[in-house]
Amino acid sequence: MMQLSGKAVSGGIVLGPIFVPDRKKEQIHCVRITDTEAEIDRVRAAVKQVKVQLQALADRALEEAGESGAAIFEAYELMLEDADYLEAIYDDIRMEKVSGARAAAATGERFAELFAGMEDEYMRARAADVRDISERLADLLDGGRETDFFPEEPSVIVADDLSPSEMVSLDRSKILAFATIQGSVGSHTAILARMMNIPALVEVPVNLEEIHTGMIAVVDGFEGTVTFEPDEDFRLQTEKRMKKEQEQLQRLESLKGRKTATKSGKKIDVYANIGSEDDVAYALENDAEGIGLFRSEFLYLGRRDFPTEEEQFQVYKRVVQRMAGRKVIIRTLDIGGDKQADYFNIGIEENPAMGYRAVRICLKQPEIFRIQLRALFRASVFGNLSVMYPMIISEEEVRQILRIAEEVQAELEAEGYPCQCPEQGIMIETPAAVMVSDELAELVDFFSIGTNDLTQYTLAIDRQNERLADYYDPHHKAILRMIRMVVENAHKHGIRVGICGELGADTELTEEFVRMGVDELSVAPSMILKVRKTVREIS
Ligand code: PEP
Ligand code: MG
Repeated sequence: MMQLSGKAVSGGIVLGPIFVPDRKKEQIHCVRITDTEAEIDRVRAAVKQVKVQLQALADRALEEAGESGAAIFEAYELMLEDADYLEAIYDDIRMEKVSGARAAAATGERFAELFAGMEDEYMRARAADVRDISERLADLLDGGRETDFFPEEPSVIVADDLSPSEMVSLDRSKILAFATIQGSVGSHTAILARMMNIPALVEVPVNLEEIHTGMIAVVDGFEGTVTFEPDEDFRLQTEKRMKKEQEQLQRLESLKGRKTATKSGKKIDVYANIGSEDDVAYALENDAEGIGLFRSEFLYLGRRDFPTEEEQFQVYKRVVQRMAGRKVIIRTLDIGGDKQADYFNIGIEENPAMGYRAVRICLKQPEIFRIQLRALFRASVFGNLSVMYPMIISEEEVRQILRIAEEVQAELEAEGYPCQCPEQGIMIETPAAVMVSDELAELVDFFSIGTNDLTQYTLAIDRQNERLADYYDPHHKAILRMIRMVVENAHKHGIRVGICGELGADTELTEEFVRMGVDELSVAPSMILKVRKTVREIS
């Protein structure tokens, strides 16, 4: 048994097998495919290209090593015509919705294992060939920078780090918990873990050479420990703790369907933060009174190209329909910082947190923005949808956004779409926005305070930098004063104000927020009932 301590970023206790991604081997982009037939066409085109490469290699081998050298590559070419092999790749894409690169790599591995198990020595030697061919194909189909890993059973993922795009591409049902060497509390990977209710630790000083897939581990997301190969006693203790945790959750269940109001009757809306359509289920399960932040940028991650208007429209429409009249605040894409998608071509920036991101991209590349707005405005007739713009720093920016929104609205009407211009609000997450919140409040329908970035930009502490974690203090007086100022300015102009950053779920501050006059707290679904309980206890 070996116990290590890290930093807990998402609560809960689990026991299960671990999965250690092999980054060296699995250099394949993380994407989930929606148009499988188009992906199969890509594979067909790549096969042709690999054949051309192989022909060139065969020609060179002929010159350098004679006929027998060339024969190797000719045999490879024949393998690429093998119907069983190709059909196996296509089946993987169709059934598993994985990329062609991933399907080629997995099929290659399966065929290689098949060959390796054969009696005939010649056939056994073909295992390396099929691996080689498949790697070529996978490389060609993929830029090959991020990891694409697929635990086969529900597992505790133990890795050096996990990016938000890896998180969104993983099958949720296969992640019991995660423990990483790097990472920080404020990163979007940690936020995703909280939204998905996955116990998670960062800064775990694990030596990846000492552990392997299949070992058993207990992750304690409250205490911040991971215990590998627990002994019998520890397992029993863990089971007891899990039971206790379950009982505590059950006690909160009684709050479902109850109002979130203080003893004196002041009502607070407790909404859920979500990152995908799937998270709506957690929000409803936890009796969310609405969605206060749908981080729509996650729709853009873990894929090769922009989501189309229709694709987005369908997602937004289903989300508002499932929330059945409850408010759904969808934030326009907040790409940038730690949320990167290659096809945006942002490039390497010295300081991505202060870089080309969010509405800055939308205003410089309005064609991307317009597509999202069209999808949002079309979806708004199906429920109670509001749109929210992130990373605002000035009134001019808001005016520009509202002008584009008006044009999009007129365009949709001219095209005959049933649509309506929803409520539009902004995130207050930069010190600049706080300082001009008085003026900004005249322009929009609501504010939502993003305390994660507000803390980062006010304290000049990178929320991603684990070395500065002790300084990243959202309870800092400066932040609390800013929140108060924003609430006062919002109310002066008669608009509502919520908190959707992680601080909204901090029950140590709930009473203070209520006293400041915050109208809404939007939190990870698993925190809704706890916040409701805290509000109800305020006299
Ligand atoms: C925030 O900054 O507080 C916020 C809610 O947005 P994100 O965490 O996605 O940057
Ligand atoms: Mg933010």
